Amino acid sequence: MGTRTAVIAGGGIGGLAAAIGLRRAGWTVTVLERSAEPGEVGAGWSFAPNAVRAADALGVGEQFRAVSVPTEAGATLRTPDGRYLMRFRPGRDTPLLANHRADLHRVLAAQLPDGVVQPAAEVAVVEQSGHGVTVGYRTPGGPATAQADLLVGADGIRSAVRRAVWPDAPAPVFQRILCWRGVTEPGAGWPADGFTGFQTWGRGARFGAHPLTRQRVFWFLTVRQGEPGLRYADDLAEVRARVGGWHDPIPDLLAGTPAASVLRHDIFDLDPLPSYVDGRVALLGDAAHAMTPFLAQGACQALEDATVLAAGLADATDVPAALARYDHIRRPRGRMVARMARQDPKISLSTSPVTYGLMTRLTHLAGGGVAARKAARLWDWTAPTIGEPTIGEPAGKS
Ligand SMILES: Cc1cc2nc3c(=O)[nH]c(=O)nc-3n(C[C@H](O)[C@H](O)[C@H](O)COP(=O)(O)OP(=O)(O)OC[C@H]3O[C@@H](n4cnc5c(N)ncnc54)[C@H](O)[C@@H]3O)c2cc1C
Repeated sequence: MGTRTAVIAGGGIGGLAAAIGLRRAGWTVTVLERSAEPGEVGAGWSFAPNAVRAADALGVGEQFRAVSVPTEAGATLRTPDGRYLMRFRPGRDTPLLANHRADLHRVLAAQLPDGVVQPAAEVAVVEQSGHGVTVGYRTPGGPATAQADLLVGADGIRSAVRRAVWPDAPAPVFQRILCWRGVTEPGAGWPADGFTGFQTWGRGARFGAHPLTRQRVFWFLTVRQGEPGLRYADDLAEVRARVGGWHDPIPDLLAGTPAASVLRHDIFDLDPLPSYVDGRVALLGDAAHAMTPFLAQGACQALEDATVLAAGLADATDVPAALARYDHIRRPRGRMVARMARQDPKISLSTSPVTYGLMTRLTHLAGGGVAARKAARLWDWTAPTIGEPTIGEPAGKS
């Protein structure tokens, strides 16, 4: 098989994972990333077992685990006054793995030889012919083009590739949710007996906290909000005003967070697309199925996508046919998870006292059973095997 070339638009987790997978499958890859300093921002996130299986299949499981910490926040649910609705049961519940986005980005990027990721390269134009794809992109030095056998659109919820190839695709939908995220300074707010993570359900507000490496804690607060685009002079003060009176250690975690590091996001998702592929172009990650963060599955699904894409292209001579298979495998799952993630906050973030009362009582009564069944639908996923790296071409930096 001759050299097969791929351009990947976007160097987020999905784009980097696709680059690692495709190289493992024998492809020559270029990642065009809009940001001049990729991976600089971000707070933390958590990963379920399906994502860890994908990381293993991509050959980066060890690196993934090295920057991650087990978190019990998925099965430790509390109310604002500190009561437990559900407690993590060691041996029965599965911990998630939490890490800092910048840490994960760093270890994934380190798997790619220098020059694979081109920063400050913004994809704008896509043209397909029978034999390949031409990608037009902007750089600080002026417009440039790249040609390849395959284009992967891993450029996030507002994907330029999606707009170029599917001009009629629906725009992202605001889900009337606002999310703040922060990371504490190392050691700040870290209890002496260790920190294992929790979530706290208020009415119309959900707080969560995960341990990170170096005794840091990643926290988030999601709330209901009518319109996108609200601005606050001091985001940390706003978070404190809303949940600073909640149970320990929430006040300490907020006190240990540098105000300048707090991030605020309006939450949008995508309606289901009619296809993730067109000829030699495939969408992956948020570009294909951006979802609300309520199931903590967006990045997990991006990793799954990357694994399936790379496995399907390992021996492929007919790229459009391989992409059609990718679409066939991935779209039903992407649609299911995104739908569940859209449904979840309709109840879990309800501002209705009746719904909140019912939700907390039922969670307390049914506890682990319901949560485990829901998790199984998300986490039961078998990773495909991707071809081994070409001999003499190790995955590390060249
Ligand atoms: C508040 C919040 C919390 C979340 N928590 C979790 C969690 O705990 N677990 C989980 O699994 N998921 C979580 N997610 C979802 C997760 O962040 C996304 O699903 C994931 O980042 C998607 O990765 P991606 O690579 O597809 O897209 P992105 O991370 O958006 O990356 C896209 C990349 O493409 C680049 N780009 C954009 N346009 C262009 C262009 N035209 N040309 C070139 N490059 C371009 C961007 O700069 C970016 O680097 C959360 C999301 C939010 C908003």
